[in-house]
Amino acid sequence: MRVVILAPVGRDAQLLAATLAVLKMESETAADAEILLVKVEEGAGAVIIVEEALKADNVKALAEWLTSQPPWSDMPFIVLTSSGRPTPQSERRAHELQTLGNVTLIERPVRPETVQTAVRAALRARQRQYEMRSRQEELIRANADLEQFAHSASHDLREPIRSISVYTELIQKQYGQSLDHKGAEYLGFVRSGAARMETLLEDLLAYAQASSIPDEIPDAIDARDPLDAALENLAGSIQDSRAHIEIGEMPLVRIRPGHLQQLFQNLVGNAIKYKNAGRPHVRVAARTEDGRWVFSVEDNGIGIAEEYKETIFGIFKRLHTNQAYSGTGMGLAICQRVVERYRGRIWVESHPGRGSTFFFTIPR
Ligand code: ADP
Repeated sequence: MRVVILAPVGRDAQLLAATLAVLKMESETAADAEILLVKVEEGAGAVIIVEEALKADNVKALAEWLTSQPPWSDMPFIVLTSSGRPTPQSERRAHELQTLGNVTLIERPVRPETVQTAVRAALRARQRQYEMRSRQEELIRANADLEQFAHSASHDLREPIRSISVYTELIQKQYGQSLDHKGAEYLGFVRSGAARMETLLEDLLAYAQASSIPDEIPDAIDARDPLDAALENLAGSIQDSRAHIEIGEMPLVRIRPGHLQQLFQNLVGNAIKYKNAGRPHVRVAARTEDGRWVFSVEDNGIGIAEEYKETIFGIFKRLHTNQAYSGTGMGLAICQRVVERYRGRIWVESHPGRGSTFFFTIPR
């Protein structure tokens, strides 16, 4: 990887080039920021700037370039500060650049070894950034593959499952009379199996679509709106179970409304579903902690034993049979995927037999 040097042509530039040549490092010198950036775009692992070259318009051009860079990129800059007493302007510019990026300041007079050590560290850092980028790209590709797979699987499998449903219904209608008790029972199993397969496929698709890879940060929304939408969808089970839902003050959060709704719907839905003999009492709240929002959904249900607190977030992981509590075991896996997309965390605390509280965090 090349090192590009921004220095007025002269002794400094020559000295730096010679210092790097000792390490067999290729370098190129630019007289102003415009030329520097052209050379950087052609490929560079680090930039050395001699402070005298740090004029206001150069800092502006560098700042603009830095803001246009992709998130993985953090070009290392090494700034050689003035040998004499730095002027307030020069200090301000060096500081300005430091707030913008990955800057190492080296005070002059510099020893060649100091420059060499700083350049080696800068190139290593740049190398790591490239590695991170390729890992992230691999992740994006793998995720796209998974989404594609889940999409085609659920789409293509839906067709034959629909046929099973339709034809079993026809058999029921046209030949139901001639079936004995056992025959009717078996046909019932086939129909409920097909219906269950359909729900599983829908949830698998929802999981694949709740991509875990973060993209641009969305605008802030009032968390109360997706919560209300989730409660509306749960109205039937809230009514049937006579659940009491208590809602604390909801904040403005940077999350896609659909994602927050998915979280609330799964968590509140579970809080009602996994109820004790009594009437469900669910409390939804939010608080700030260490610069993040911590949402909580608390219930007075059956609770979760200590040893299952992690496994329940796995795909298709369930602690009960479908007869005891209906479900696919995908809800919490979807929640985890959504929360991870926002670099948050989801976990549960529980007193078996007395209730559970699910927490998830979203950065502020
Ligand atoms: P599903 O509800 O479809 O089974 P989930 O992924 O939402 O799938 O939940 C996984 C398992 O975690 C559930 O089967 C249940 O055993 C347990 N669980 C989830 N939420 C609660 C809760 N609020 N109280 C007790 N157990 C819960």
